[in-house]
Amino acid sequence: MGPLTRSFEERLDALALLALRVGVGFGAGERLRLGGPLEAAPLVRRITALAYDFGATYVDVRYADAEIELARALHAHGETLDHYPSEQADLAYLVAARGDAVIRVSGADPDLMSRADPTRVQRMTRAAGRANRRARELGMRSFMPWTIVPSATPAWARKVFPGETDAMERLWHEIFTATRATAEDPVAAWEAHADGLDARARRLSAAGLAALHLRGPGTDLRIALCEGHVWEGASATAESDGRRIVANIPTEEVFTAPHARRVDGVVRATKPLSYDGQLIDGFSLTFEDGAVVDASAERGQAVLDGLLETDAGARRLGEVALVPHSSPIARSGRLFFNTLFDENAACHLALGDAYLTSVRGGLERPREDLGADGLNRSLVHVDFMVGSSELDVDGVHGDGTVVAVMRGGEWEMGALVP
Ligand code: ZN
Ligand code: ZN
Repeated sequence: MGPLTRSFEERLDALALLALRVGVGFGAGERLRLGGPLEAAPLVRRITALAYDFGATYVDVRYADAEIELARALHAHGETLDHYPSEQADLAYLVAARGDAVIRVSGADPDLMSRADPTRVQRMTRAAGRANRRARELGMRSFMPWTIVPSATPAWARKVFPGETDAMERLWHEIFTATRATAEDPVAAWEAHADGLDARARRLSAAGLAALHLRGPGTDLRIALCEGHVWEGASATAESDGRRIVANIPTEEVFTAPHARRVDGVVRATKPLSYDGQLIDGFSLTFEDGAVVDASAERGQAVLDGLLETDAGARRLGEVALVPHSSPIARSGRLFFNTLFDENAACHLALGDAYLTSVRGGLERPREDLGADGLNRSLVHVDFMVGSSELDVDGVHGDGTVVAVMRGGEWEMGALVP
């Protein structure tokens, strides 16, 4: 083993450590449910070994085989596509309700389903979404400790670095840099980073803005914020036992909930979106009274339409997130075709479900009350990127006063809090 190999191994170990210690705060006597693509096995195995070193009671690994999923989308008889094995959904719910730690490794082929008929893929996705509603709701309130971490895979690497013979090495390099696995003390580096994001979120919450106004090329969108909204940074609190978790590694965003019925104007996406292994690119959405009334895409129109038709909430916003254009991932200048990466390189919005923690008392109050205050609900939560070096964001106070929040994609919070 040469020095390069050794350093790769060390970085892989650092990423596994971050997933367990920073991501889900893993400790002795706990169970871990761990899932990811087959091709992510090197990282999945590291996480597993380290979890046992930490005293794990049991690590339940579930690999996803992309070819198997594609085989169903291409070959299954039409009348079977709405089926989802309920025992799988029951197990996912049981694990989450018990408060087991859940780690998902992200790295699937962004183009996986491009050969399949979008309406067939949508039926599979909706069936899975409906069946897994209870487990997903526990995730959306961070009941159990959970996190997502990236792993390079050959198909993803080819998409990011087409035609490059060292695509895997280069994607790993980007992953290690963005996740701070290269830091001298990765866990300490993460704690400092998370503290910084949490402090920014507190400042924005204290400002008590009523709305945001986003302006950029093809974008002029007014987003009222949910009544009683709070901004959140990297850290969340797992409801099951109150531990600090970081649900996305990497993360660079602060986010909150828009008002589901008070979003007006037009927004143009600044990066392609990989949804369910299918790409949507060059798209704009027009909102009236919170709902998308017009959607056009240069590529993936049928996929976009299908997403918006999932349910009533899929046409409305559940998240607005601010990320400076100078974030480490944005500075790489690359398109990753992977939401975990691209959403942390740009301001983004999410169609669909809002996080209950985006409003004060969201975990305790009845869901109907939260809906009345503007918190959106849906079976889907799909982030899409709207940030660029040309995006300006204004904050609008209840009395109509306007303050700069971002200029040219960078923070400009001086006027926000005295
Ligand atoms: Zn986000
Ligand atoms: Zn999101």
